[in-house]
Amino acid sequence: MPELPEVEALSSFLAARVVGREIARVQVVAISALKTYDPPVAALEGRAVGAVGRRGKFLDFEVGGVHLVVHLARAGWVRWRDSLPVEPAKPSSRNPLAVRVGLEGGDGFDLTEAGTKKGLAVYVVRDPVEVPGVARLGPEPLDLGVEEFAGLLRGERRRLKGVLRDQTVLAGVGNAYSDEVLHVARMSPYKLASSLTEEETARLYEALGDTLRDAVERSRGLAAGELKAEKKVGMRVHGRTGLPCPVCGDTVREVSFADSSLQYCPTCQTGGKPLADRRMSRLLK
Ligand SMILES: [Zn+2]
Repeated sequence: MPELPEVEALSSFLAARVVGREIARVQVVAISALKTYDPPVAALEGRAVGAVGRRGKFLDFEVGGVHLVVHLARAGWVRWRDSLPVEPAKPSSRNPLAVRVGLEGGDGFDLTEAGTKKGLAVYVVRDPVEVPGVARLGPEPLDLGVEEFAGLLRGERRRLKGVLRDQTVLAGVGNAYSDEVLHVARMSPYKLASSLTEEETARLYEALGDTLRDAVERSRGLAAGELKAEKKVGMRVHGRTGLPCPVCGDTVREVSFADSSLQYCPTCQTGGKPLADRRMSRLLK
C-alpha cells in the first residue's frame, strides 16, 4: 500500500505534469470506485488543475474550485500515459483500470487497482474534508512537535503497532512504515503506547521523523513507475521475513497482527525473544 512517502512523491510527480492544464475527460471505469455523485465527475472536465497535494494517504487535485480526492488503498496505483487511447476503456472485472483522467493534449493518467479486493476510492467534492476518511485524519507526522506527539500517546492503551498506523492518530503511516519506525526506535510492536517513558517517547518521535523524511527524500523526483521498487529497497524489516536484519544480522521474524502481519527483529526490538503469534496460539489452545 502506498503510504505517506509514496503518495507525497506521486503528488509531486503529478503536480509537475498536470498543474495549469485543463482536464479534457474523466472516465470512471470501475463504477464502485466513485463514492460521490454531487458534484458530478463531469464538473472536472473543461477546468484547469490548480494544485495537487497530499493529506495522509489521500491525493487531492484542486480543479477550478472542485476537488478530486483519491485513496489508492492496498493495491491502487497511478500510471502516467503520454498518449491515452481515444476510445473509451471497456469495464471488465479483470481490467485493473479504475479511473482514467485525460488532459487536453492527449496525455493523462490511469488510476489502476490490481487484485480482486477493490478498495480504491475516488471522491469529487467541494472541500476535501467532505471525504469522511480525510475528516477523521490525525495530524501529519512531519508537522508534529515532540510534545504534541507525546500527547497522542498519553492514555493510549493500545499497542504501538496499532497506534502508529491508525490514521485518526497519525496521517499517512501504514503497515510498512510503522514496522520500520519501530525497528529504528528499537521498540517492540507490542509495547503499550501509554507505557513509554519520556526518553522512549523522544526516541520514537525521532525514529518516526527520520524514517519518513528519509523515505520522502529517496522517493523525490522518481517517476510513478519507479516508486514501488524504491520503497521495497529502503525497507529494513518490513516484508523481509527470514532475511538478516541490516543492523544486527539476526533473522527478521513475522507475526500476525489485526488484519495483516508485522515484521520485526528480535535482537533489536524484543530483547532477543520472539513475539508470540496470538492468532497461532489461539488456534493451538
Ligand atoms: Zn536487528
